[in-house]
Amino acid sequence: MITVENLSKVYDGTTVVDAVSMVIEKNTTTVIVGTSGSGKSTLLRMINRLVEPTGGRVLIEGRDTREEPAHLLRRRIGYAIQGHGLFPHRTVAENIGTVPQLLGWSAARIQARVEELLQVFQLDPKAYADAMPHELSGGQQQRVGVARALAAEPAVLLMDEPFGALDPIIRAKAQEDLLEIRRRFGTTIVLVTHDMDEAFHLGDRVAVMSGGRLLQYDRPARLLTQPADPFVARMTGMGDRAMRLLSLTTAGEAALPGRGSGPAVTASASLREALSELVWQGADSAQVVDADGTARGHLTLDAILRHGRPS
Ligand code: ADP
Ligand code: MG
Repeated sequence: MITVENLSKVYDGTTVVDAVSMVIEKNTTTVIVGTSGSGKSTLLRMINRLVEPTGGRVLIEGRDTREEPAHLLRRRIGYAIQGHGLFPHRTVAENIGTVPQLLGWSAARIQARVEELLQVFQLDPKAYADAMPHELSGGQQQRVGVARALAAEPAVLLMDEPFGALDPIIRAKAQEDLLEIRRRFGTTIVLVTHDMDEAFHLGDRVAVMSGGRLLQYDRPARLLTQPADPFVARMTGMGDRAMRLLSLTTAGEAALPGRGSGPAVTASASLREALSELVWQGADSAQVVDADGTARGHLTLDAILRHGRPS
């Protein structure tokens, strides 16, 4: 658990982060959104003390982050940024092994961890461990950047617009990778983005910032149905809010009993995707199936639409 208490940053008399308090639960993904210059990166960087707070404090598992030297703290916290920041003259394996090396892990342990992470990111260790960063595609470099951030098994992973430079297909893949990482390693993830679809897809909780202040910190559905103020409502997309709400529930979660008829929709698809499919096919009901084709129930147009409005 990360506890942010009254955290502030002042540069030359200008308050860029203004008394932010929030509690980030273990093994969750928290997404920070807000307009450019609203203080998102500064807030994130105060968690690992890349930026020293002017006021307030951060506790990780109840322990004040100022109790240990900043460089040691940062070895325990993964940090990934847009444009990956890989060392260009080091191999993929050396890049990923950077922090474990600093921590004095044995060569065998580092190698095993590098291979495990390359496999998580679907990069064949035989083909990629000894490659140089420039030999990789942009999407692969990004994955190595995230792998490097995860190498020393940090309990906390901070990410600053990590997927901003990726094309939509690779970006979707990177988002699925991240969800998988959280499931697999139980990592607590704090991610900054200005892509609201990304925020709603990944975030268990979303923090909306404006002018250095935290306007609302809530579950995605609550941001949509009970925005704290008009800025939050604008930020979360008034015109799209019903669709966004539908995107938060899967077909499997909403499925009604009985087989039903109509086009097949996979249980993991969102209701937004299910609705799109029904509109496209001119159908008013769908069968919900697992990835292997097993029937999971059915959905009607009415049942889908009910999930798209505040209850
Ligand atoms: P965001 O990530 O939301 O775009 P930042 O946290 O990077 O915003 O910046 C918030 C504000 O703080 C901006 O106005 C920015 O210009 C200012 N700022 C950030 N870093 C510094 C710095 N090192 N010195 C002075 N001002 C800074
Ligand atoms: Mg930023």
